[in-house]
Amino acid sequence: MRDFSQDHRWLSINTATVRKQRGQDWPLPQILDACAARGIRAVSPWRDQVAAAGLEATARQLKALGLALSGYCRGGLFTHTDAAGRQAARDDNRRALDEACALGAPCLVLVVGGLPGALAGKAVHRDLAGTRAQVREGIADLLEDARERRMPLAIEPLHPMYAADRACVNTLEQALDLCDALDPARSGALGVAVDAYHVWWDPKLQDQIQRAGRERLLALHVCDWLTPTTDLLNDRGMMGDGVIDLRQLRGWVEAQGYAGYSEAEIFSSGNWWRRDGGEVLDTCIERHRTCV
Ligand code: ZN
Repeated sequence: MRDFSQDHRWLSINTATVRKQRGQDWPLPQILDACAARGIRAVSPWRDQVAAAGLEATARQLKALGLALSGYCRGGLFTHTDAAGRQAARDDNRRALDEACALGAPCLVLVVGGLPGALAGKAVHRDLAGTRAQVREGIADLLEDARERRMPLAIEPLHPMYAADRACVNTLEQALDLCDALDPARSGALGVAVDAYHVWWDPKLQDQIQRAGRERLLALHVCDWLTPTTDLLNDRGMMGDGVIDLRQLRGWVEAQGYAGYSEAEIFSSGNWWRRDGGEVLDTCIERHRTCV
């Protein structure tokens, strides 16, 4: 297992971690500058942040700063109720693929979507199995274009509390079943993003990480699970402040040969988003060394 205690060369910052500090948007160009100034070598930006800063300008800035990507957030949201919705999802996912290519991302992270309408507040039906079938179909369809562009797709299983509205793929096992069905050759074109927040509770976690193997492990996201958790989406903890054994998880992932970045991804409206962005980054560096 790699020693993270001496430096932070394997730290990546998911840029949502510092997206709105003290109530104000922290623009992506400033986030990238602040990361580079601290010797952080990688980031994982979100599409809305890139759109606000401009795709080409962001690509230029990343290059100028020597910053790599550990992923691109995000594609997915495959579920729909009609042909127009299906086509809109297809088009948007292809744009996401093109952006990921332009930025030199190692993978496009997929949050697959939940029951249609649920994210907006009202699900239009209760057909979870049918929704999961749509997700499978959507990934299969996108995978063809992803292969052409040589851009791997990383399915991110989300904690079951998001099954209704954000992602109906909720365990690593379920995500790997999709990988095995759609990419049986383990070509590297399809894999998973292992986010500690979503999978830490799973009694099958170690087994499924072994099953994934190096070809399927495309990203590792870290934060912590707080007790109590006061918001289902935006109360993620800083590494070390909660109950997840992050070092054990990293050990399992690295035992399969994963040698990529550990990406800090913390949505925290009540704590970390209220602080100075530089303080948050400095804390991520310290906790990366001591807790991950
Ligand atoms: Zn994540």
